[in-house]
Amino acid sequence: MTEQTKNSLHQPYHQVLDRIRRAEANCNRAPGSTQLLAVSKTRSADEIGLLADLGQRLFGENYLQEALTKIVLLQDRDLEWHFIGRIQSNKTRQIAENFHWVHSIASLKHATRLSDQRPQHLSPLNICLQVNTSGEKSKDGHNEHELAELLDAYTALPNIQVRGLMTIPAPAEDKSAQHYPFQQLRRLRDRLCNKDVPLNTLSMGMSDDLESAIEEGATLVRIGTAIFGPRQYNQ
Ligand SMILES: *Cc1c(COP(=O)(O)O)cnc(C)c1O
Repeated sequence: MTEQTKNSLHQPYHQVLDRIRRAEANCNRAPGSTQLLAVSKTRSADEIGLLADLGQRLFGENYLQEALTKIVLLQDRDLEWHFIGRIQSNKTRQIAENFHWVHSIASLKHATRLSDQRPQHLSPLNICLQVNTSGEKSKDGHNEHELAELLDAYTALPNIQVRGLMTIPAPAEDKSAQHYPFQQLRRLRDRLCNKDVPLNTLSMGMSDDLESAIEEGATLVRIGTAIFGPRQYNQ
């Protein structure tokens, strides 16, 4: 066995990469047109290091304190950190200082704070605006009407770069039910984008529905369980 195949994450990681390549091929998309964000919430810095050894660079985290610990431990690695969790107003400074991307922007107030708090020596913070495609009350995210009204205000913020849209649909086993919210997000993007605000990123698709998301145009899928196995919250 090579060093790579001895790595316990080698097989699941390559299975996910294969699923992505096959889904791209099935809908005639260019190989590599979908980025993989490895969702590492609840995973140790050592596990993240193992995945980085296999070539993974983009990592997504949901819980700020947990993420900051790992970012410090892994600071010598060239990794890109994406915040994908719920944002609390009193924690925006640490997000602005430590992350490259935030996918879960559902409030202009949060985006304004992040822009104000983004250190000047860093490039603008990349953001995706979260859209509530399934209409669930428990989920954050703008609806289409709000987004159309707020987009100019978001794009005017100086230290933020609006890169696209993100959604977390309700889980659905049935393929056609999986497609619907992803298709809605893509169509919304097509209606809202313009040459100044291309909204190139569609952050959608997780372990159970990445194929459906890629077929609908996802440019980035957020995958945890299929790489790392089931999460254990009681550690
Ligand atoms: C946890 C999480 C994921 C990963 O989900 P899996 O089903 O484990 O792949 C993706 N996106 C967000 C926003 C998450 O919170």
